[in-house]
Amino acid sequence: MSKYIHTEVDGIKLKLSNLSKILYPESGITKAEVIQYYMTIAPIIINHIGNRPLTLIRYPDGIEKNKFYSKSCPEWAPSWIKRQEIQHSEEMIPYAVINNTAGVVWLANLAALEIHPMQMLTTKMENPDHFIFDIDPPEGADFSDVKQIAYKLKRFLESYNYTPFIKTSGSKGVHIIVPIITQHTHDEMVECVKGLAKLFVQQNKDSSTLNLQKNNRDGKTLIDIYRNHMAQTTVSAYSLRAKPNASISTPITWDQLENLKHSTEINIRNIDAHLEKYGDVWKDIRKSAVPLHTHHQAIREINKEVEKKLESYLHKRDFGKTPEPRPQLNLTNQNRFSVQLHNASNLHYDLRLEDQGVLLSWAIPKGLPHRKGIKRLAIQTEDHPMEYLDFEGVIPKGEYGAGEMWVFAKGQVSWIKKTDSSHEFILDSKQLKGHFKLYKTKGEQWLIERKNEADATLLNSSIKPQLADVSKTIPSGIQYSFEIKWDGIRSLIHVLDDQIKIYSRSGREISNQFPELQIASEAFHIENGIFDGEIISMDKEGRPIFSDVISRLHTKGERSIQSAVHKNPVYCYLFDCLFLDGRNICNEPLKKRQDWLAVSLKKNNQFRLSETMSDGKALFDAAKNMNLEGIMAKDLTKPYEVGNRNNYWLKIKFRDTISVQILGYTRGNGDRSNLFGALHIATENNGSWNYLGKVGTGFDEAKMIEVLAILKVQDESKKLITENIEEAHRTIWITPKLWCEVQYASLTNKGTLREPVFLGLRPDLES
Ligand code: MN
Repeated sequence: MSKYIHTEVDGIKLKLSNLSKILYPESGITKAEVIQYYMTIAPIIINHIGNRPLTLIRYPDGIEKNKFYSKSCPEWAPSWIKRQEIQHSEEMIPYAVINNTAGVVWLANLAALEIHPMQMLTTKMENPDHFIFDIDPPEGADFSDVKQIAYKLKRFLESYNYTPFIKTSGSKGVHIIVPIITQHTHDEMVECVKGLAKLFVQQNKDSSTLNLQKNNRDGKTLIDIYRNHMAQTTVSAYSLRAKPNASISTPITWDQLENLKHSTEINIRNIDAHLEKYGDVWKDIRKSAVPLHTHHQAIREINKEVEKKLESYLHKRDFGKTPEPRPQLNLTNQNRFSVQLHNASNLHYDLRLEDQGVLLSWAIPKGLPHRKGIKRLAIQTEDHPMEYLDFEGVIPKGEYGAGEMWVFAKGQVSWIKKTDSSHEFILDSKQLKGHFKLYKTKGEQWLIERKNEADATLLNSSIKPQLADVSKTIPSGIQYSFEIKWDGIRSLIHVLDDQIKIYSRSGREISNQFPELQIASEAFHIENGIFDGEIISMDKEGRPIFSDVISRLHTKGERSIQSAVHKNPVYCYLFDCLFLDGRNICNEPLKKRQDWLAVSLKKNNQFRLSETMSDGKALFDAAKNMNLEGIMAKDLTKPYEVGNRNNYWLKIKFRDTISVQILGYTRGNGDRSNLFGALHIATENNGSWNYLGKVGTGFDEAKMIEVLAILKVQDESKKLITENIEEAHRTIWITPKLWCEVQYASLTNKGTLREPVFLGLRPDLES
């Protein structure tokens, strides 16, 4: 037989030598068989060694003779074999990189029986894509002990959400491989694996050890994690071993492990049958790649840096008292952020940006700026643990940062530029988007500037409030909160920095009527927001007087308004919040909107919080005794629908009232000969009028004089209804522009109101 054979693989000419040489004397396996095996396995083994720096163990004269442990790709290797240089402490080593069948065959021809790849691809040298536990039992150990430890380690790793894969080592033990995402550095991975291994060995002291010294292992199985270091290698899946039976390090399933008798069981002679039956069980291994996780007990070992950063956080808190999270996990950098609303001694927002395992944190007293170019003070606070991203709760009195904390916005941060003294980034979340820049000014003090305009459409437009359905009964269930139905002018209050704009229910701006409500900084902790409430006037007993507040609405002229402010000041009871510091919060549940309203409002001014109660029946009885209009029941779980009427809110009234339009009035006679007799009232439905009769009670003389003055300046009109009515000849029809509120007992069978009583004009409903 010739000493050389010339062949061609992948279009590459190869010269194969010494094919009949016996490399495994005990089983008589020749080099030809070895080459044959590698040629067959090449398409599969390439998935596991391809594009990785390789260390080779060559046995040119067989496994019983000298072996050559070669890291450096031989200088005489053909030029189509790629090299990857890696800097070692003293030298630069060019490792061989193989990515085709020809390369695998070339290795086999070198009698490189064992192929040991590194844990990263040459395309991403900084980031390993898996880690390895080499389970190495003591000499003469029973293989069932190996299996037992392997299964334990599997369950252990699975408890950290890893998916461990197993292969035979082809020697005594097994290798457990855990695919990870290629985002971690080698050092990060090694630190994490150390932490896991220490904890596992601690939990399995009797059977496992991390001690490399053979004579210090005490008959225990070595959990060898030292192969995970950068530039270390482990024998590849499907590589031959230099063992007498030419065993192969073979990927198996966890079920197959059950029946395996020894790690050398699968070898060059039976591998074909094995593959035919199971195929490559590691084919989809990359699909199980996850980020590194680390157990809290290991955090001290694993991420000293993170711990150091969190020292101040830990120092300031007593975890027996505060519900704030204790750092537990060392997660990878996923570029997350959150903004928390923190009702501490001063209401402020906390901005937290994920960076190197912690949350960089700033307290921003006035919140993130919502207009381009605006800069706000941001005070850097201690780094917080990743768990703080989602923290909501109440930090008890006396503890650091005592008060409520809510997540205001949460999403992804994209860094644009980051230096020690300036950070530029984009925040993206469904609640909040924006381009910001933080600058360090002095010590802990930074400035945060907004670099783009925020969406403040809602804040800057006239919108209509959500309207309630009527209910005859008080709903029950814990999702309801109850409050007084305020009898006044429903208003949306827009707080725009120092200015307050007030819109009526119909969307008309009525700010000028209520100068006493221009107290933005006196009344609110926040800079911008939209609040829903009711403007009322009160008598000495604190009962809302509807007609008084209505008269405020048609007071004209600055001087008259000023004197009305003096004689008859109004209050605004707020019960909802739609927009807060740059964020539309209509989709948050009512409970949260109520909480945020409560912390936004300062005490002792014209703006007041409409107190809520959970006992609807008790409130109903109390409100009835006080002769109020009724109560509201609100579903705490529901959002706010601008301009819609729905059953999220229910009004439960003691008497029925209706808002109607005035079609005309009758001339008075007798006592009222200088006044008017009654008002013709109706409601409009799609252009046709539903006549509700006349209302002639509920007025005193002063009220009638006031109303008549308004009636007289209205344009006269033709009769808009078809009904024959009483006193037609005494009626003056007017263009239906005026609204009024009427209380009534019930409807007659003609559809008119029984026992109607005039409650007041409703200029707030005029469009
Ligand atoms: Mn805070």
